[in-house]
Amino acid sequence: MTSPTTFDTLPLSPALLENLPGLGYTEATPIQAAALPLILAKRDVLGQAKTGSGKTAAFGLGLLNDIDPGRLETQALVICPVRELAEQVAAEIRRLARNIPNIKLVTLCGGMPGRPQEISMRAGAHIVVGTPGRIAKHIRKDLLRLSAISTLVLDEADRLLDMGFAEDVLAIVNPIPRSRQTLLFSATFPEEIRALSRKIQRDPESVIVDTALAPGVVEEREVFAAPRDKPRALSRILRQEMAESTLVFCATRDGCREVAGTLSSEGFSVATLHGEMEQRDRSDALIRLANRSVRVLVATDVAARGLDIDDLPLVIHFDPANDPDIHLHRTGRTGRAGRSGKAFSLIDRRTPSSISWDELSPQPGPPPPPPMVSFLLNGGKKDKIRPGILVGVMVNEAGLNPEDVGNIHISDTYSVIAFRIGVQRKVAKWAATGRIKGKRLTPMYVPDIS
Ligand code: ADP
Ligand code: MG
Repeated sequence: MTSPTTFDTLPLSPALLENLPGLGYTEATPIQAAALPLILAKRDVLGQAKTGSGKTAAFGLGLLNDIDPGRLETQALVICPVRELAEQVAAEIRRLARNIPNIKLVTLCGGMPGRPQEISMRAGAHIVVGTPGRIAKHIRKDLLRLSAISTLVLDEADRLLDMGFAEDVLAIVNPIPRSRQTLLFSATFPEEIRALSRKIQRDPESVIVDTALAPGVVEEREVFAAPRDKPRALSRILRQEMAESTLVFCATRDGCREVAGTLSSEGFSVATLHGEMEQRDRSDALIRLANRSVRVLVATDVAARGLDIDDLPLVIHFDPANDPDIHLHRTGRTGRAGRSGKAFSLIDRRTPSSISWDELSPQPGPPPPPPMVSFLLNGGKKDKIRPGILVGVMVNEAGLNPEDVGNIHISDTYSVIAFRIGVQRKVAKWAATGRIKGKRLTPMYVPDIS
């Protein structure tokens, strides 16, 4: 999704849409572009983006779009960690709601006189924005009723937890009807946030917008497997998803080798990436993942750090990361640039949203070979090898069609060329005697597809 998202492509009510240009909102920010379609479809969303990225309007437009002004009941509740934030959020929602007549919003915060808040609540509020303590107080006094709430928002959830509000938040949230939509926004993504999400959200979509990553949508799944079942669980996930490229993360080098060995013995096309490998082997592993001549790359975090890997359809946390930043960084390999991706974590204890590994639905038969096959040329830029020359020779001398040639990677001293797997015999036959600028072409990796 490279072109900007304008709001009028979204199913927003005219009253909301017509007001936005007046606020100077012409294009959706990345978090809005990624999260709003899900929010408007009433999905639970776990949103992560830096401060100033426009999260308020993302949930504000979502909750406003769903309010029925004709029913004076509390239909949306926004919980914020501190008063200043609640006031900012309330002000932004009021701005967004300018064109909707008779919307009542009440702010319930500590550090402010209680009487006016109580009077406002008696008069009725469609939307309540507040901090946990004061919200709880109004619930106790039966001034805030939870039964009609259809949108619940936790803003800056990481700060809510840091400030020790976890239990208060759960006490407020638990009685709210389960049919609600729950939106959880946070600037960071520690394990506590994911635990909170599991407690209060249903089948949430993660929307992660990192400066380094374009926004996309990642569906995160947890698969429960005892340690001894993990290799089988991994194999099942791979066979269920049938993704063209998958990155699998392991905690250690040895784990990485072991996992790759098991997959390979089951017929998966697999490569490894870990810190003990030579630089050349590491880049070759990445080149093969990128040119689609290997389907699964099993990596350690250390080796995968800072890699420039294009969008991948599937990431699997074989050993889940303890550090939330690492989890996020790993998961960020998928669902980039507005595309959707999936991330699976193999966990060793059940959670409400997890499924057991034996509930997965693997497709029958052997794993399919990769669509491409890599050949190595022992010459590169220094030998004046260029893509045009390569393709020319392969078409004119080896009898290939230009479409049979895939990604071409040329480094200083060598090149890696991907061919469609169907023509590999033709290529090999030509390469037995043929040369490109005097250089030899040899199969780099030939999957066993006899
Ligand atoms: P966050 O909650 O992510 O820290 P805010 O919701 O407070 O960020 O938004 C930051 C600023 O960006 C606010 O001043 C808001 O009015 C503005 N803003 C939000 N969405 C847009 C948009 N689509 N176009 C222009 N400005 C926007
Ligand atoms: Mg905010």
